[in-house]
Amino acid sequence: MSPTPSVIVCGSCNMDLISYTPRFPKAGETITGSTFSECFGGKGANQCVAASLLAGVSRQGYTSMVGCVGADNYGRATRSNFEAYGVDITHLGTAPTPVSSGLACIQVDERGENSIVIIPGANYSLLPETAAQLPKPFFAEATHALFQLEIEPGATLKAMEAAKGEGVTTVLNPAPARPLTELPDGFLEFADVLAPNQTELSILTNGLPTSTVEECTAASRELLSAHNITTIIVTMGASGALHVTADKTSHVPSPPLSAPVVDTVGAGDCFLGSLAFFLSAGVPVLRAMEMANKCAGISVTRKGAQTSYPTFDELPREWA
Ligand code: ADP
Repeated sequence: MSPTPSVIVCGSCNMDLISYTPRFPKAGETITGSTFSECFGGKGANQCVAASLLAGVSRQGYTSMVGCVGADNYGRATRSNFEAYGVDITHLGTAPTPVSSGLACIQVDERGENSIVIIPGANYSLLPETAAQLPKPFFAEATHALFQLEIEPGATLKAMEAAKGEGVTTVLNPAPARPLTELPDGFLEFADVLAPNQTELSILTNGLPTSTVEECTAASRELLSAHNITTIIVTMGASGALHVTADKTSHVPSPPLSAPVVDTVGAGDCFLGSLAFFLSAGVPVLRAMEMANKCAGISVTRKGAQTSYPTFDELPREWA
């Protein structure tokens, strides 16, 4: 029997293939790079691993990943990676050959600039009808479900609908940013909590400014009233995060970092996976945001995405 999860993540799994080169090649040119690395990524997988690391491997199946990988070596490696973190993968499907696993082909030049080609591959093989048929008992113990925009939006919509129907709190991270016109009608209505970063909030509101707390509050209020959403949590990079409801705004600043920032890749995913973990553990929302800021703050002081996320043991002792 599969375990019943507390946190469900429905989204993407990618393998990041990173080439480090002195400069980017021109069209038709071949150049020699310096090093290469492979990392597990995808917004869904990152958020799931962030929550799972806090739960600890002793709590096998506290988190569950819903999505799809390819019938290839990357897909098999992705499954093993989830298992190593104690993630339940009962509802992680396999796409039919020749669809590859989701890939992000990344080049980083010596100035640190990057260029990225994403191949969604198997991520788009989770079909809306499959998502609609997720079994009701799967949601029984879950408190929170996390969604993003890296898989077929119709599948996300059906999974959000199913989760909400079973009383699970749905958190939608509208990333990568897309204008509302590219999403199915009524999409945002299935999110109990909408959690964009500042760029995503601006794009969702047709370009409203989102540089300051005041601007993010005003843009969030526009979305709240237009889409029947009750809560928006905006991540604001080094400034922490903002909780906005129709009548109240609370800014939760980031705590001071214990080391310099080295890599902010996947910081938002760390924040959201951590937030879902703390909320599922019964922590009140503003406190959960403070704790998620701490986790994401640790992640930016280390390299990589999943490899930079903290375990519970690394957090202040008084939180235990
Ligand atoms: P994204 O990674 O989606 O662009 P943000 O840049 O808003 O999202 O970062 C997400 C969270 O990561 C922030 O809310 C904060 O908790 C943390 N964070 C990001 N950058 C920094 C930073 N420079 N210093 C401290 N915390 C940071």
